[in-house]
Amino acid sequence: STTTTTTASDFALHANPAPRPEAERAELLGAPTFGTVFSDHMAKVTWSADTGWTDRRVEPYGPLLLDPAAAVLHYGQEVFEGLKAYRHADGSVWTFRPEANARRFAASARRLALPELAVEDFLGSIEALVHADLAWVPSGEETSLYLRPFMYASETFLGVRPSRQAEYAVIASPVGPYFSGGVKPVSIWVVRDYHRAGPGGTGAAKCGGNYAASLLPQQEALARGCEQVCFLDAATNTELEELGGMNVFVVRADGSVSTPELTGSILEGVTRSSILTLLTEAGHEVREERVALADLRRGLEDGSVTEVFACGTAAVVTPIGRLASEDFDLTVGAGATGPVTAAVRQQLTDIQYGRAADTHGWLHRL
Ligand code: PMP
Repeated sequence: STTTTTTASDFALHANPAPRPEAERAELLGAPTFGTVFSDHMAKVTWSADTGWTDRRVEPYGPLLLDPAAAVLHYGQEVFEGLKAYRHADGSVWTFRPEANARRFAASARRLALPELAVEDFLGSIEALVHADLAWVPSGEETSLYLRPFMYASETFLGVRPSRQAEYAVIASPVGPYFSGGVKPVSIWVVRDYHRAGPGGTGAAKCGGNYAASLLPQQEALARGCEQVCFLDAATNTELEELGGMNVFVVRADGSVSTPELTGSILEGVTRSSILTLLTEAGHEVREERVALADLRRGLEDGSVTEVFACGTAAVVTPIGRLASEDFDLTVGAGATGPVTAAVRQQLTDIQYGRAADTHGWLHRL
């Protein structure tokens, strides 16, 4: 018989014969750092133009075999996702809006001329991996198991055309609070001479190339004494887009909140979308609109803009305390975490960690 939907049970488990010893794992889970330690398994699905998606499996975590002529190494045909599994106080493990990541993954793949993975396969792969590595989901405050689904063009061929073979995999990494020592405002360098994306480009897709393009400007931001870089739109170089890996929000003294609208060159963050909902419900006037740098500068100078924050899965909500570029250097509010920023961060993490009711049906039990 055939089934039209895939579940975790469709992934064959090839258990790791040499999992990390329990004591070693416990030590790693006690003080996790971001993206350096990985669990015992990975989930995989293989695609070819001839057979479609086959060989759903969970196998021991380990190196991939790649021909030196594999298309991904030459033309960067690759997409990825990032989401977390959270352990609640009762021991149960949950993900947050994984269908949104699954849909975004399919949209990213479409833009990179890669095959689309069905939402059911995406969810099934995550369930199968987390079930195999449940013991790797940490339980400390603000810890989680970071999940990294990705897909790459694996055909051995140097011609420039969409690959006829692809590999999909999910790996998992226990992570702690993104910023050790608590949430503190970050400084932002607004970059004028580089863009991460342009009209008609790949900015709305989560593909490796976008991040490669953001590294040099990020380096420049660090050299200028700022922690993160904020990109402007490539068409006019006057409007805020987003940071290298986070969306951005502006809060005004009158309680209204704005975030750059989705123009096609901004990544549609799951955190962004959730915050839009939470702030609307909290009674804020919330707008997705063009946010001009000149207006933001004026607002910071005259006090009508009171808070600016960045948001994304990894760091949740991060206050921005300083905004600078060649010709300005502005403190946001008092340079400390503002009340709207603090409240929405608390609300979101309370839902994710099961401390508040999930009234939106955002949590998915694993
Ligand atoms: N923008 C970019 C460029 C990102 O890489 C991310 C992280 N995925 C985000 C925004 C935030 O997206 P999300 O809230 O889904 O993590």
